[in-house]
Amino acid sequence: MKNHRKSEKLFKQAKAIIPGGVNSPVRAFKAVGGNPVFIVKGKGSKIYDVDGNSYIDYVLSWGPLILGHAHPKVIKALKSAAEKGTSFGAPTPLEIELANLVLKAYPSMDKVRMVNSGTEATMSAIRVARGFTKRDAIIKFEGCYHGHADGLLVKAGSGAMTFGIPDSPGVPESYAKNTITIPFNDIDALKTVINRQWKSIACVIIEPVVGNIGCVLPKPGFLAAVRALTKKYGIVLIFDEVMTGFRVAYGGAQEHYRIKPDMTCLGKVIGGGLPVGAYGGKKEIMSIVSPEGPVYQAGTLSGNPLAMTAGIETLKILLEKGTYKKLESLSSMLERGLKDAAKRAGVATRFYRAGTMFCTYFTNKEVYDYATAKTADTAKFSRFFSGMLDRGVNIAPSQFEAGFMSLAHSASDIEKTVRAAYESLKRA
Ligand SMILES: *Cc1c(COP(=O)(O)O)cnc(C)c1O
Repeated sequence: MKNHRKSEKLFKQAKAIIPGGVNSPVRAFKAVGGNPVFIVKGKGSKIYDVDGNSYIDYVLSWGPLILGHAHPKVIKALKSAAEKGTSFGAPTPLEIELANLVLKAYPSMDKVRMVNSGTEATMSAIRVARGFTKRDAIIKFEGCYHGHADGLLVKAGSGAMTFGIPDSPGVPESYAKNTITIPFNDIDALKTVINRQWKSIACVIIEPVVGNIGCVLPKPGFLAAVRALTKKYGIVLIFDEVMTGFRVAYGGAQEHYRIKPDMTCLGKVIGGGLPVGAYGGKKEIMSIVSPEGPVYQAGTLSGNPLAMTAGIETLKILLEKGTYKKLESLSSMLERGLKDAAKRAGVATRFYRAGTMFCTYFTNKEVYDYATAKTADTAKFSRFFSGMLDRGVNIAPSQFEAGFMSLAHSASDIEKTVRAAYESLKRA
């Protein structure tokens, strides 16, 4: 067993002054038991804890670090940006540079607004969709997580699912009332709701690949059917690509599945490890955003030079030749290894992957929505998680979170991971 004495001591201190000892719930390891490890350093594919242990990391700050930890070019650019000042609350050339990179990658967007988190992006996009359509209701899918804004914490995934609180106390019923939820991949359910009350529906918001209940893929034709239905009834289709953006493909799930949403939300990768989100869409929709139009949305630190710099450097590296080929080859190598390890260990699992995001479910059933994801054996997952951590592999501390690949991972990292997985599966 690895020594975690210092981490345990710090967790005790943290719990006394920070709710649950953490600044975001899933970090607390509640779903898997045990104590979280406190990290002091990351470099490439690895992170290092306060007790001197190292781990091959597939959490990657929950998705953003597609280049791995502390990429030298990103850090160098950040240092030089920091020396010039961290924020001005005035426009800078860097905002135009990142906006151009984003718009080029996502042709469905004519204009984009930078914010500070994915939560801000989805919350603002929904406000704009409501302002644009002058309708109040929204449709979301069960298990999709769109940040923690009121009205979106209804049948949400991520921590909300892990802890079994689909509806959080503190969210007024009057907010949740305007949120209609239906099962992912269920086009008939969507048709029924839209036929009944399309006049009140402002938008459909969706994770095109659901990363917040693991990794649930859209069935063939599902996204196209959602697109066709929303278009027919003048409902704004919002793709929440905060996780899938630059991960399923450079141009996100919309590039991979060839769907043109009306609005898109981004975050995670476009901040290169700093707090960034973005939302954008068609010109006629985005032109109602303040100060061009009447829908208010603002941010003191939005578009700050440090976050823009980290995003720009990250996207520039992703644009280099062969990057996505390498990411695909690493991800498929891990996929083959993990599937094979499960087979050899005789453990029933289902593995799903979309580009650089993936999930192994401890179930023998096909997973295509929230209910089928719930068939996974979470006790078995917890034992697997502990086994992996003890063998120096960091995966998300919940069955219902995606794993992520980075450019910094090596074939040798993956071999070690697969060996650790086999050993951990045998004992799960
Ligand atoms: C992470 C995530 C969010 C929320 O982003 P934060 O930066 O954590 O606020 C929203 N939507 C999706 C799909 C996400 O994965």
